[in-house]
Amino acid sequence: MATPELPTEKSEPKERVAHPFRTLRQLVDFVSGKSLPPVETGEGLRTEALPFPFLAIVGQREMKLALLLGLINPSVGGVLLVGPRGTAKTTAVRSLLDILPKVESSLCSYGCLAEDIETGGMDAVCPDCAKKFAEGQPLSSPGRVRLIELPLNARLEDVVGGIDERLAVTHERLRVRRGILAQADRNLLYIDEINLLTDEIVDSILDAAAQGSYTVRRGPFSATYHARFVLVGSMNPEEGQLRPQILDRFGMRVVVRGLEDPAERLEAYRRVQAYLTNPRGMCIAYCEETLAAAEEIQSARARLPKVILPDKVARLAIKLVQKMGIDSLRAEISWFEAARAYAATDARDKVTLEDLQAVAPMALRLRRSQFMAEYFNNQVEEEEEMANLLGSLYKIR
Ligand SMILES: [Zn+2]
Repeated sequence: MATPELPTEKSEPKERVAHPFRTLRQLVDFVSGKSLPPVETGEGLRTEALPFPFLAIVGQREMKLALLLGLINPSVGGVLLVGPRGTAKTTAVRSLLDILPKVESSLCSYGCLAEDIETGGMDAVCPDCAKKFAEGQPLSSPGRVRLIELPLNARLEDVVGGIDERLAVTHERLRVRRGILAQADRNLLYIDEINLLTDEIVDSILDAAAQGSYTVRRGPFSATYHARFVLVGSMNPEEGQLRPQILDRFGMRVVVRGLEDPAERLEAYRRVQAYLTNPRGMCIAYCEETLAAAEEIQSARARLPKVILPDKVARLAIKLVQKMGIDSLRAEISWFEAARAYAATDARDKVTLEDLQAVAPMALRLRRSQFMAEYFNNQVEEEEEMANLLGSLYKIR
Protein backbone atom coordinates (compact mmCIF):
# COMPACT_ATOMS: atom_id res chain seq x y z
CA MET A 1 0.00 0.00 0.00
CA ALA A 2 1.31 3.42 -0.89
CA THR A 3 1.97 5.76 1.96
CA PRO A 4 -0.14 8.89 1.76
CA GLU A 5 1.83 11.86 0.55
CA LEU A 6 2.38 14.40 3.27
CA PRO A 7 1.99 17.97 2.19
CA THR A 8 5.23 19.86 2.35
CA GLU A 9 5.78 23.55 2.02
CA LYS A 10 7.05 23.16 -1.51
CA SER A 11 4.50 20.71 -2.90
CA GLU A 12 1.70 22.01 -5.07
CA PRO A 13 -1.83 21.48 -3.77
CA LYS A 14 -3.33 18.35 -5.38
CA GLU A 15 -6.22 20.22 -6.87
CA ARG A 16 -5.45 23.76 -7.78
CA VAL A 17 -8.17 26.18 -6.91
CA ALA A 18 -9.19 27.43 -10.31
CA HIS A 19 -9.33 31.20 -10.51
CA PRO A 20 -12.84 32.42 -11.26
CA PHE A 21 -11.93 33.75 -14.71
CA ARG A 22 -12.55 31.77 -17.83
CA THR A 23 -9.90 33.40 -19.94
CA LEU A 24 -6.73 35.41 -19.72
CA ARG A 25 -8.58 38.41 -21.09
CA GLN A 26 -11.20 38.27 -18.34
CA LEU A 27 -8.42 38.15 -15.79
CA VAL A 28 -6.74 41.21 -17.29
CA ASP A 29 -10.00 43.16 -17.34
CA PHE A 30 -10.98 42.18 -13.82
CA VAL A 31 -7.71 43.22 -12.24
CA SER A 32 -7.59 46.47 -14.20
CA GLY A 33 -11.00 47.46 -12.86
CA LYS A 34 -10.85 46.32 -9.24
CA SER A 35 -9.87 48.73 -6.54
CA LEU A 36 -6.47 48.35 -4.97
CA PRO A 37 -6.33 45.86 -2.12
CA PRO A 38 -4.75 47.35 1.02
CA VAL A 39 -0.97 47.50 0.75
CA GLU A 40 0.87 48.00 3.99
CA THR A 41 3.30 50.85 4.14
CA GLY A 42 6.70 49.26 4.53
CA GLU A 43 10.33 50.03 4.14
CA GLY A 44 11.09 51.07 0.59
CA LEU A 45 12.82 48.32 -1.35
CA ARG A 46 14.78 48.73 -4.52
CA THR A 47 12.13 49.19 -7.15
CA GLU A 48 14.24 48.06 -10.09
CA ALA A 49 14.34 44.56 -8.63
CA LEU A 50 10.56 44.31 -8.48
CA PRO A 51 8.65 45.44 -11.54
CA PHE A 52 5.22 47.03 -11.24
CA PRO A 53 2.71 44.17 -11.59
CA PHE A 54 1.52 43.96 -15.20
CA LEU A 55 -2.08 43.29 -14.23
CA ALA A 56 -2.10 46.30 -11.89
CA ILE A 57 -1.82 48.73 -14.81
CA VAL A 58 -5.15 50.53 -14.93
CA GLY A 59 -6.99 50.62 -18.28
CA GLN A 60 -4.82 50.49 -21.46
CA ARG A 61 -6.58 47.27 -22.41
CA GLU A 62 -5.36 47.23 -25.99
CA MET A 63 -1.73 47.79 -25.02
CA LYS A 64 -1.86 44.95 -22.49
CA LEU A 65 -3.60 42.65 -24.94
CA ALA A 66 -1.09 43.38 -27.72
CA LEU A 67 1.84 42.62 -25.42
CA LEU A 68 0.25 39.37 -24.27
CA LEU A 69 -0.52 38.28 -27.84
CA GLY A 70 3.08 39.07 -28.80
CA LEU A 71 4.33 36.83 -25.98
CA ILE A 72 1.94 34.03 -26.90
CA ASN A 73 2.71 34.13 -30.62
CA PRO A 74 6.03 35.70 -31.69
CA SER A 75 4.86 35.34 -35.32
CA VAL A 76 2.62 38.42 -34.94
CA GLY A 77 5.83 40.26 -35.75
CA GLY A 78 6.38 42.63 -32.87
CA VAL A 79 4.43 45.32 -31.09
CA LEU A 80 4.81 49.07 -31.52
CA LEU A 81 3.43 51.35 -28.81
CA VAL A 82 2.80 54.88 -30.08
CA GLY A 83 1.89 57.57 -27.62
CA PRO A 84 2.91 60.54 -25.53
CA ARG A 85 5.10 60.34 -22.44
CA GLY A 86 3.58 59.17 -19.14
CA THR A 87 1.14 56.66 -20.60
CA ALA A 88 2.76 53.63 -18.96
CA LYS A 89 4.32 52.26 -22.15
CA THR A 90 7.70 51.46 -20.62
CA THR A 91 6.10 50.40 -17.33
CA ALA A 92 3.91 47.93 -19.19
CA VAL A 93 6.84 46.36 -21.04
CA ARG A 94 9.03 46.08 -17.93
CA SER A 95 6.14 44.70 -15.91
CA LEU A 96 5.98 41.69 -18.23
CA LEU A 97 8.94 40.31 -16.27
CA ASP A 98 6.78 38.31 -13.86
CA ILE A 99 4.64 36.69 -16.52
CA LEU A 100 7.26 35.82 -19.13
CA PRO A 101 6.82 32.27 -20.37
CA LYS A 102 9.22 29.36 -20.02
CA VAL A 103 11.42 28.56 -22.97
CA GLU A 104 14.37 26.32 -23.87
CA SER A 105 17.45 28.58 -23.89
CA SER A 106 20.45 27.69 -26.01
CA LEU A 107 23.69 26.93 -24.18
CA CYS A 108 25.72 28.20 -27.14
CA SER A 109 26.56 31.81 -27.98
CA TYR A 110 25.29 31.33 -31.54
CA GLY A 111 21.89 30.32 -30.17
CA CYS A 112 21.84 26.77 -31.59
CA LEU A 113 18.92 24.53 -30.60
CA ALA A 114 18.14 20.86 -31.19
CA GLU A 115 14.97 21.91 -33.04
CA ASP A 116 17.14 23.74 -35.59
CA ILE A 117 18.69 20.38 -36.50
CA GLU A 118 15.24 18.81 -36.76
CA THR A 119 14.12 21.46 -39.23
CA GLY A 120 17.34 22.41 -41.03
CA GLY A 121 19.76 19.51 -40.56
CA MET A 122 23.25 19.59 -39.04
CA ASP A 123 24.25 22.67 -41.04
CA ALA A 124 21.69 24.71 -39.11
CA VAL A 125 23.91 24.68 -36.01
CA CYS A 126 27.55 25.48 -35.30
CA PRO A 127 30.17 22.67 -35.51
CA ASP A 128 30.47 22.46 -31.69
CA CYS A 129 26.73 22.01 -31.29
CA ALA A 130 26.57 19.49 -34.16
CA LYS A 131 29.20 17.44 -32.30
CA LYS A 132 27.34 17.78 -28.99
CA PHE A 133 24.09 16.73 -30.64
CA ALA A 134 25.72 13.67 -32.20
CA GLU A 135 27.07 12.71 -28.76
CA GLY A 136 23.59 13.03 -27.30
CA GLN A 137 24.40 16.07 -25.18
CA PRO A 138 21.73 18.73 -24.65
CA LEU A 139 22.03 21.99 -26.62
CA SER A 140 19.67 23.93 -24.38
CA SER A 141 18.40 24.19 -20.85
CA PRO A 142 14.96 25.21 -19.60
CA GLY A 143 14.72 28.85 -18.65
CA ARG A 144 12.44 31.82 -18.94
CA VAL A 145 12.08 34.35 -21.71
CA ARG A 146 14.26 37.33 -20.74
CA LEU A 147 13.58 41.00 -21.27
CA ILE A 148 16.48 42.65 -23.11
CA GLU A 149 16.41 46.44 -23.36
CA LEU A 150 18.34 48.21 -26.08
CA PRO A 151 20.09 51.22 -24.57
CA LEU A 152 19.36 54.45 -26.43
CA ASN A 153 23.08 55.13 -26.84
CA ALA A 154 23.84 51.66 -28.28
CA ARG A 155 26.31 51.64 -31.19
CA LEU A 156 26.05 49.34 -34.20
CA GLU A 157 28.90 47.19 -32.77
CA ASP A 158 26.90 46.74 -29.57
CA VAL A 159 23.82 45.74 -31.50
CA VAL A 160 25.29 43.23 -33.96
CA GLY A 161 28.56 42.45 -32.15
CA GLY A 162 32.09 43.06 -33.31
CA ILE A 163 35.71 42.11 -32.82
CA ASP A 164 36.60 41.75 -29.16
CA GLU A 165 39.33 44.40 -29.18
CA ARG A 166 40.53 43.77 -25.63
CA LEU A 167 41.12 40.11 -26.45
CA ALA A 168 42.79 41.09 -29.72
CA VAL A 169 45.24 43.47 -28.02
CA THR A 170 46.06 41.49 -24.88
CA HIS A 171 46.04 37.96 -26.26
CA GLU A 172 46.63 38.62 -29.95
CA ARG A 173 43.52 36.60 -30.64
CA LEU A 174 40.55 37.63 -32.72
CA ARG A 175 37.07 36.78 -31.62
CA VAL A 176 33.71 38.17 -32.66
CA ARG A 177 31.83 39.48 -29.64
CA ARG A 178 28.14 38.60 -29.38
CA GLY A 179 25.82 41.56 -29.90
CA ILE A 180 22.56 42.53 -28.26
CA LEU A 181 20.59 40.93 -31.11
CA ALA A 182 22.17 37.54 -30.44
CA GLN A 183 21.51 37.93 -26.72
CA ALA A 184 17.90 38.64 -27.55
CA ASP A 185 17.48 35.27 -29.30
CA ARG A 186 14.33 33.54 -27.97
CA ASN A 187 13.78 36.55 -25.71
CA LEU A 188 11.92 39.84 -25.79
CA LEU A 189 13.80 42.85 -27.17
CA TYR A 190 12.49 46.20 -26.03
CA ILE A 191 13.46 49.41 -27.80
CA ASP A 192 12.21 52.59 -26.18
CA GLU A 193 12.11 55.68 -28.42
CA ILE A 194 12.76 53.61 -31.52
CA ASN A 195 12.19 56.70 -33.67
CA LEU A 196 15.38 58.24 -32.25
CA LEU A 197 17.70 55.41 -33.30
CA THR A 198 19.87 55.79 -36.38
CA ASP A 199 18.59 54.22 -39.61
CA GLU A 200 21.60 51.90 -39.70
CA ILE A 201 20.78 50.40 -36.29
CA VAL A 202 17.05 50.15 -36.93
CA ASP A 203 17.66 48.41 -40.27
CA SER A 204 20.00 45.86 -38.70
CA ILE A 205 17.43 45.08 -35.99
CA LEU A 206 14.52 44.76 -38.39
CA ASP A 207 16.48 42.60 -40.84
CA ALA A 208 17.53 40.26 -38.03
CA ALA A 209 13.95 40.17 -36.72
CA ALA A 210 12.59 39.33 -40.17
CA GLN A 211 15.13 36.60 -40.89
CA GLY A 212 15.53 35.20 -37.39
CA SER A 213 19.32 35.34 -37.79
CA TYR A 214 22.12 37.61 -38.94
CA THR A 215 25.72 37.39 -40.01
CA VAL A 216 28.57 39.59 -38.81
CA ARG A 217 31.58 39.94 -41.10
CA ARG A 218 34.79 41.58 -39.96
CA GLY A 219 37.64 41.07 -42.42
CA PRO A 220 38.22 37.36 -42.81
CA PHE A 221 35.96 36.52 -39.88
CA SER A 222 32.30 35.87 -40.06
CA ALA A 223 29.77 34.48 -37.63
CA THR A 224 26.05 33.80 -37.94
CA TYR A 225 23.84 34.21 -34.91
CA HIS A 226 20.25 33.24 -34.29
CA ALA A 227 18.05 36.22 -33.46
CA ARG A 228 14.46 35.03 -33.01
CA PHE A 229 13.02 37.60 -30.66
CA VAL A 230 9.75 39.30 -29.90
CA LEU A 231 10.35 42.94 -30.78
CA VAL A 232 8.58 45.60 -28.77
CA GLY A 233 9.17 49.23 -29.65
CA SER A 234 7.77 52.41 -28.22
CA MET A 235 7.82 55.94 -29.51
CA ASN A 236 6.46 59.38 -28.85
CA PRO A 237 5.37 60.84 -32.20
CA GLU A 238 6.02 64.37 -30.88
CA GLU A 239 9.73 63.53 -30.93
CA GLY A 240 10.04 62.38 -34.50
CA GLN A 241 8.34 60.22 -37.09
CA LEU A 242 9.11 56.63 -37.95
CA ARG A 243 9.91 55.76 -41.56
CA PRO A 244 6.94 54.00 -43.22
CA GLN A 245 9.03 50.93 -44.03
CA ILE A 246 9.90 50.56 -40.34
CA LEU A 247 6.30 51.03 -39.32
CA ASP A 248 5.31 48.29 -41.76
CA ARG A 249 7.61 45.82 -40.01
CA PHE A 250 5.73 46.03 -36.73
CA GLY A 251 2.92 43.51 -36.76
CA MET A 252 0.78 45.20 -34.13
CA ARG A 253 0.46 48.91 -33.48
CA VAL A 254 -1.17 50.36 -30.43
CA VAL A 255 -2.00 54.02 -30.10
CA VAL A 256 -1.64 54.64 -26.37
CA ARG A 257 -3.58 57.57 -25.00
CA GLY A 258 -3.76 58.90 -21.45
CA LEU A 259 -6.56 57.60 -19.21
CA GLU A 260 -9.74 59.61 -19.77
CA ASP A 261 -11.89 58.48 -16.85
CA PRO A 262 -11.10 60.49 -13.67
CA ALA A 263 -11.88 57.45 -11.51
CA GLU A 264 -9.33 55.41 -13.48
CA ARG A 265 -6.74 58.15 -13.14
CA LEU A 266 -7.29 58.19 -9.38
CA GLU A 267 -6.97 54.42 -9.17
CA ALA A 268 -3.80 54.56 -11.28
CA TYR A 269 -2.37 57.21 -8.94
CA ARG A 270 -3.20 55.05 -5.87
CA ARG A 271 -1.46 52.04 -7.35
CA VAL A 272 1.65 53.96 -8.36
CA GLN A 273 1.76 55.49 -4.88
CA ALA A 274 1.39 52.07 -3.25
CA TYR A 275 4.13 50.67 -5.48
CA LEU A 276 6.55 53.51 -4.72
CA THR A 277 5.94 53.16 -0.98
CA ASN A 278 6.13 49.38 -0.84
CA PRO A 279 6.97 47.59 -4.09
CA ARG A 280 7.03 44.19 -2.43
CA GLY A 281 3.62 44.70 -0.82
CA MET A 282 2.25 45.76 -4.17
CA CYS A 283 3.61 42.64 -5.88
CA ILE A 284 2.18 40.43 -3.13
CA ALA A 285 -1.22 42.09 -3.51
CA TYR A 286 -1.31 40.96 -7.15
CA CYS A 287 0.68 37.75 -6.71
CA GLU A 288 -2.17 35.27 -7.14
CA GLU A 289 -3.45 36.88 -10.32
CA THR A 290 0.06 37.29 -11.71
CA LEU A 291 0.69 33.56 -11.25
CA ALA A 292 -2.63 32.74 -12.91
CA ALA A 293 -1.79 34.99 -15.86
CA ALA A 294 1.65 33.39 -16.26
CA GLU A 295 0.02 29.96 -16.34
CA GLU A 296 -2.55 31.10 -18.88
CA ILE A 297 0.15 32.48 -21.17
CA GLN A 298 2.08 29.24 -20.94
CA SER A 299 -0.94 27.13 -21.84
CA ALA A 300 -1.94 29.48 -24.66
CA ARG A 301 1.56 29.07 -26.11
CA ALA A 302 1.27 25.31 -25.86
CA ARG A 303 -2.11 25.40 -27.60
CA LEU A 304 -1.09 27.77 -30.39
CA PRO A 305 0.29 25.20 -32.88
CA LYS A 306 -3.13 23.53 -32.90
CA VAL A 307 -5.10 26.72 -33.58
CA ILE A 308 -6.27 26.86 -37.20
CA LEU A 309 -7.69 29.65 -39.32
CA PRO A 310 -10.53 28.32 -41.51
CA ASP A 311 -10.28 29.37 -45.19
CA LYS A 312 -13.78 30.84 -45.15
CA VAL A 313 -12.88 33.23 -42.33
CA ALA A 314 -9.52 34.09 -43.92
CA ARG A 315 -11.15 34.97 -47.26
CA LEU A 316 -13.52 37.44 -45.65
CA ALA A 317 -10.62 39.05 -43.82
CA ILE A 318 -8.53 39.41 -46.98
CA LYS A 319 -11.49 41.09 -48.64
CA LEU A 320 -11.52 43.66 -45.85
CA VAL A 321 -7.76 44.30 -46.15
CA GLN A 322 -8.22 44.96 -49.88
CA LYS A 323 -11.24 47.20 -49.30
CA MET A 324 -9.13 49.24 -46.91
CA GLY A 325 -6.56 49.72 -49.67
CA ILE A 326 -3.73 48.09 -47.72
CA ASP A 327 -0.98 46.70 -49.94
CA SER A 328 1.43 45.16 -47.47
CA LEU A 329 1.04 41.41 -47.09
CA ARG A 330 2.32 41.84 -43.56
CA ALA A 331 -1.08 43.25 -42.65
CA GLU A 332 -2.91 39.96 -42.93
CA ILE A 333 0.01 37.90 -41.68
CA SER A 334 0.05 39.86 -38.44
CA TRP A 335 -3.72 40.02 -38.27
CA PHE A 336 -4.16 36.27 -38.68
CA GLU A 337 -1.36 35.40 -36.27
CA ALA A 338 -2.76 37.79 -33.65
CA ALA A 339 -6.21 36.22 -34.10
CA ARG A 340 -4.75 32.74 -33.61
CA ALA A 341 -3.11 33.88 -30.37
CA TYR A 342 -6.36 35.51 -29.33
CA ALA A 343 -8.28 32.25 -29.90
CA ALA A 344 -5.59 30.43 -27.91
CA THR A 345 -6.16 32.72 -24.91
CA ASP A 346 -9.76 31.49 -24.98
CA ALA A 347 -8.66 27.83 -25.14
CA ARG A 348 -10.13 27.35 -28.62
CA ASP A 349 -8.58 25.61 -31.64
CA LYS A 350 -10.36 27.51 -34.39
CA VAL A 351 -10.20 31.23 -35.26
CA THR A 352 -13.59 32.89 -35.61
CA LEU A 353 -14.62 36.15 -37.21
CA GLU A 354 -15.03 37.53 -33.68
CA ASP A 355 -11.35 36.82 -32.95
CA LEU A 356 -10.35 38.67 -36.11
CA GLN A 357 -12.60 41.56 -35.22
CA ALA A 358 -11.10 41.85 -31.73
CA VAL A 359 -7.53 42.22 -32.97
CA ALA A 360 -8.16 44.00 -36.29
CA PRO A 361 -7.39 47.55 -35.11
CA MET A 362 -4.00 46.49 -33.73
CA ALA A 363 -2.96 44.75 -36.94
CA LEU A 364 -4.49 47.08 -39.52
CA ARG A 365 -4.17 50.63 -38.25
CA LEU A 366 -1.44 52.86 -39.60
CA ARG A 367 -1.01 50.67 -42.67
CA ARG A 368 -2.20 53.03 -45.39
CA SER A 369 0.37 55.55 -46.51
CA GLN A 370 -1.88 58.61 -46.20
CA PHE A 371 -2.52 57.58 -42.63
CA MET A 372 1.13 57.51 -41.81
CA ALA A 373 1.42 61.21 -42.53
CA GLU A 374 -1.22 62.19 -40.02
CA TYR A 375 -1.15 59.59 -37.29
CA PHE A 376 -3.69 60.90 -34.91
CA ASN A 377 -5.99 63.09 -37.00
CA ASN A 378 -7.12 60.26 -39.19
CA GLN A 379 -7.17 57.64 -36.48
CA VAL A 380 -10.77 58.14 -35.38
CA GLU A 381 -12.07 58.02 -38.95
CA GLU A 382 -10.12 54.87 -39.75
CA GLU A 383 -11.36 53.00 -36.70
CA GLU A 384 -14.99 53.93 -37.38
CA GLU A 385 -14.71 52.79 -40.97
CA MET A 386 -13.13 49.56 -39.87
CA ALA A 387 -15.92 48.92 -37.35
CA ASN A 388 -18.55 49.55 -40.06
CA LEU A 389 -16.88 47.24 -42.53
CA LEU A 390 -16.55 44.55 -39.92
CA GLY A 391 -20.23 45.02 -39.08
CA SER A 392 -21.21 44.50 -42.71
CA LEU A 393 -19.13 41.36 -42.91
CA TYR A 394 -21.13 39.96 -40.01
CA LYS A 395 -24.34 40.49 -41.92
CA ILE A 396 -23.25 38.64 -45.04
CA ARG A 397 -21.80 35.75 -43.09
ZN1 LIG B 1 26.20 26.29 -31.35
